[in-house]
Amino acid sequence: MQLRFNLVKILLLELEDLSLLRIYNTLNKKVELFQPRNTGVVRIYTCGPTVYRDAHIGNLRSYLMADWIRRSLTIQGFNVTHVKNITDVGHMRQEQLERGGDKVVLAALAEGKTPKDIADYYTQAFLKDEAKINILPASHFPRATEHIPEIIDIIQELFTKGYAYEVDGSVYFNVPAFDKYGQLSGNIALDQARTLTLLESDPNKKDPRDFALWKKAEPGRDMKWDSPWGYGFPGWHIECSAMSSRYLGFEQDIHTGGVDNIFPHHEDEVAQSEAAFGTPYVNYWIHGQHLLADGVKMAKSAGNEFTLADLEARGFDPLSFRYLCLTVKYRNRLNFTFSALKASQKALTRLRDLVANWKHTARYHQTDQSLRSAWKTKFWNAANNDLNLAQALGIVWDLASSKLPDASKLNLLFGFDELLGLDLNKYTATKKLPRDIKKKVTMRNDLRANGRFKTSDAIRAELSEGGLIVRDTLTGTFFRSKTVLERQAARWPTVSSSREVDSFLSHHATKSFSLILIATNYYQDVKRCIKSIISSCSAYNLEIIIVDNGSTDGTSEKLDKLQQKHPHIKLIHCDHQLGDAQAKNIGLKQSLGHIILMLDTCVELKGDVLIKIEKQLKDTRVGAIGTWGLLSDNLNHFHEEVDFGEIDALQGYCFAFRRDILLDVGLMRECFRFYRILDIDFSFQIKDKGYKILADGSLPMLRHKHRQWENLLEAERDELSKKNFKRFLVRWKNRTDLLVTRGTRDIYDKLNLNSSNGSNK
Ligand code: AMP
Ligand code: ZN
Repeated sequence: MQLRFNLVKILLLELEDLSLLRIYNTLNKKVELFQPRNTGVVRIYTCGPTVYRDAHIGNLRSYLMADWIRRSLTIQGFNVTHVKNITDVGHMRQEQLERGGDKVVLAALAEGKTPKDIADYYTQAFLKDEAKINILPASHFPRATEHIPEIIDIIQELFTKGYAYEVDGSVYFNVPAFDKYGQLSGNIALDQARTLTLLESDPNKKDPRDFALWKKAEPGRDMKWDSPWGYGFPGWHIECSAMSSRYLGFEQDIHTGGVDNIFPHHEDEVAQSEAAFGTPYVNYWIHGQHLLADGVKMAKSAGNEFTLADLEARGFDPLSFRYLCLTVKYRNRLNFTFSALKASQKALTRLRDLVANWKHTARYHQTDQSLRSAWKTKFWNAANNDLNLAQALGIVWDLASSKLPDASKLNLLFGFDELLGLDLNKYTATKKLPRDIKKKVTMRNDLRANGRFKTSDAIRAELSEGGLIVRDTLTGTFFRSKTVLERQAARWPTVSSSREVDSFLSHHATKSFSLILIATNYYQDVKRCIKSIISSCSAYNLEIIIVDNGSTDGTSEKLDKLQQKHPHIKLIHCDHQLGDAQAKNIGLKQSLGHIILMLDTCVELKGDVLIKIEKQLKDTRVGAIGTWGLLSDNLNHFHEEVDFGEIDALQGYCFAFRRDILLDVGLMRECFRFYRILDIDFSFQIKDKGYKILADGSLPMLRHKHRQWENLLEAERDELSKKNFKRFLVRWKNRTDLLVTRGTRDIYDKLNLNSSNGSNK
């Protein structure tokens, strides 16, 4: 019955001239018309989340793509079964798994809970997140730990067929035995194989491309299961073969994931599934490009991830993220910024307003069938052309501004929204107004009717202040409460990146000093630092520039109050925590002082530091001066020197220089998101231009606890510092000539060489 219905629906769609989904298939590297294996039914598998932490919005972008594919096929009349697994045995990546260390177990240890508690908690959190952005729930959410018997069955089948071997309780897939290995990922697999050969750490593998199907449990491991090879746990890839075949059969239509899943995860899935099942595993492999933040892939390890809760905490409607993802095609990278999200929320709000308005006016007739049909063809052609939703969204806006009657617009839009998933039909703007507001609204309408627009505008402003949007349209006046974001916009302007900030660097200095502070939470620290500046340097013509770098603990509000009391404080709010170099560059670009002093908020001044700084910087050979200096013998290690003298680099706690050198030296390099080593890198930029850097340990100041550092775990400190150090070395590794000691020695060596050659040219 269902099948017949679907067939009829497909036929009808064709009659209506609606196109069918064409989509890029990673397997064949081209856009193909989607055709299911069995008429009328589609089986989709989506690689789901590892539940030891909240999903970040990058992960959610991949799930949105799967949702749009599913919706598109459902609208075409297919009966779709969608499976999304929950990885609750917590390896994120095969290599990590092979090195041991289970993410779910580690998270449980850290939170003092059992691995199951952790997995349950984050599974629920994931489902809630998906619901908030209107991702339709999958037909099945199987958990890896509940499918161990199926996993073991497949591994045994692979043994029988000669594709698996065991070494000391661990079982590996024998890649050379599978001819078609690499068919999905192509060159990526080759490159990775080369890298693996160089880096291979598992001595049990016969070929570096081989991968674990089953790993022997290390002593003391909690999450382990009995198997024909002893106690152990499954490899990462095998769970997806087991769960997809259990719920969808051996042959699936579509398998989705992010592009990082292509290799090794999906390549290995193809190998083990086709080897075990003996049939082509998946017809259409569909992969979504990444969501980036500040230009790099969003990932926990990059420290640039945001969760849906982070967006909500900033007043965004979760659906504005869905809207944002609609604006960029799934095969293109999308660089996430809060300004783009703001624009999306604005557009979504506008669309909702239009719908609310059309609902009032839609009593009138719909336009004729053929006009509507033309709009439908346009929309579905775009949407089904490799899921070009950005174009489809453009057509929605064309429709909105077209001359079609509102009733037709509404009807068409609701149809399109079955795919877009913005819940436009749920949105009603009319709400009961409190009596006093109602009175004002009526009064305003009367005033308008009598042409007294000035007074009516004043009432509108008053209503707006009270949180109500009032809009007059041809068909009447329309009200709604302001969104959280609209209420915030009235609070203060924010910036999303240093690019949005004007640079005054080519302007003449109007102050003697610009003191720059970066504040991320911990108002008490900021206040201590500012108080010390005010009490010891008030005699100078100075400005204090505070970059409020994504504070979320109320610091922003307090800084606003402080600024009102002290007009020489200039305050710039960032809408999220920018990388350290970006935040500092905002301060640098905005400064108008002859001398710039960057102070960390852990510093407290104990006297007039500016007099000495000014004196030293009068010497134009000196590029920068600060309190805490560093010296190095070879660039690989820097040690602290606090006495007076020339040094190799300044520590960022106190870093002063003449503003005009920036025109020569440039701003800080924004690839540094974390503060450490950034100061050394910037020092080298200064030295590279031929300036000396001085330390003066007698400058009167104290250094308190440095929060940014204190709040990191040991492993995080190491990782962030190492990453930055690498960046530093990539640029400066051949520049030992810039070191104070080495530079001196080089001159000495040259002199020696010259005298021994007897050359005096
Ligand atoms: P993971 O939790 O890392 O296994 O990722 C879950 C899903 O999110 C996989 O399909 C990944 O390919 C995808 N993913 C991870 N990071 C991103 C990102 N920055 N943008 C888009 N998708 C991502
Ligand atoms: Zn998977």
